[in-house]
Amino acid sequence: MSIQIPRGTQDILPGVVEKWQYVEEVAKNLCHAYQYKEIRTPIFESSDLFTRGVGDTTDIVQKEMYMFEDRGGRSLALRPEGTASVVRSFVGNKMFGNPGQPVKLYYSGPMFRYERPQAGRYRQFVQFGVEALGSEDPAIDAEVLSLAMGIYRELGLKQLKLVINSLGDSGSRNAHREALINHFKPRISEFCGDCQNRLEKNPLRILDCKKDRDHELMSSAPSILEYLNDESREYFEKVQRYLSDMDVEFEVDPTLVRGLDYYNHTAFEIMSNAEGFGAITTLCGGGRYNGLVEEIGGPETPGIGFAFSIERLLSALEAEGVNLPINEGIDLFIVSLGDEAKDYAVKLLHKVRREGIASEKDYLDRKLKAQFKAADRCKAKYVAVIGENELKENKINLKDMATGEQEEVNLDHFVDRIKGKLSK
Ligand code: ATP
Ligand code: MG
Repeated sequence: MSIQIPRGTQDILPGVVEKWQYVEEVAKNLCHAYQYKEIRTPIFESSDLFTRGVGDTTDIVQKEMYMFEDRGGRSLALRPEGTASVVRSFVGNKMFGNPGQPVKLYYSGPMFRYERPQAGRYRQFVQFGVEALGSEDPAIDAEVLSLAMGIYRELGLKQLKLVINSLGDSGSRNAHREALINHFKPRISEFCGDCQNRLEKNPLRILDCKKDRDHELMSSAPSILEYLNDESREYFEKVQRYLSDMDVEFEVDPTLVRGLDYYNHTAFEIMSNAEGFGAITTLCGGGRYNGLVEEIGGPETPGIGFAFSIERLLSALEAEGVNLPINEGIDLFIVSLGDEAKDYAVKLLHKVRREGIASEKDYLDRKLKAQFKAADRCKAKYVAVIGENELKENKINLKDMATGEQEEVNLDHFVDRIKGKLSK
């Protein structure tokens, strides 16, 4: 019996993987422009990192985490998200002591959540994320948001909606928390078990509940914006002003709360409005987390970041019908006739490849016609043909497949000639 791929995972095959490489490249280049540097952290971490860093009342920790005990009896988890790991590394490597503050990092890699697989929801998915640690300047919030939007825009997405909210500082949050408890408590029995647990622990997360989202108490719940103190309100206004200065369009949605426990001040999501994108419209989520570094054992350090999955990004591109400029073809295919010419082709191919020219030949002893077909399949820009006669005369026939033009090229000059043609 054949072995099946695990539920909620996928193979990314040649033909599709080029799209992944392209979007990752665009994201990385923009991160470079914004001066975010790559960090690579382990795929598994101590489970405690996520119970502390993500929050033990969250769905991620309670229901979705892949936990296991290793052979040494340690409790480990496949990382469900990237922020906690980045912060663990920030603390462990004492990056808070670096002269270059804020520390601006990005990561890209697989995350694991035991979820019900559906469109846009996998058990292994790739997140691209960014974290800026060590600054509480609202300009950093605006920078991080504009970087996220910039990646999507650069890739050609148009039907986007950036939604922002402020969760305020701890003073504002506590006042709001009281108001939420008072609001929900009298009728909490009408809510799901999760919400009943959340009421005392983290009532804000009731607003994020997917089961009870249509309950009438949801829309009438007290808005955080009414509980922001002056400092928090001013902070939020500055973020909005910077965004406007950068021509980044946004909407304020006071009901937006993120699923994770450690957020404060700025919270945001980017959604796709594209028709046919599907029921899950969130492409990207992020926000400010000023308490997290301390929670993980470091000195009080503000932070802000976002993460999006490449899977949802690619679905959005598909839903909007964006064609990525992916170069599918190769530069050169060498067709050979006869044993001697075949051996020569091996040598020649080696030479052109050393010059960075994407090139291929036949390895199945195909007939002439089938070699040309293979060249077509590779979408070769040029096809070079070499046979016994050409070898004797020290030349090769070079055909431009776009124009049909052919020329005889001296074998000693072939590499320069093809390089010259390709550079045009
Ligand atoms: P959702 O409400 O869709 O479950 P979330 O709040 O769990 O999202 P985050 O933890 O904020 O999402 O993760 C940030 C981003 O990672 C999401 O906006 C989405 O692009 C992506 N993402 C999260 N879970 C998955 C998944 N199971 N499969 C693919 N992408 C995912
Ligand atoms: Mg989720």
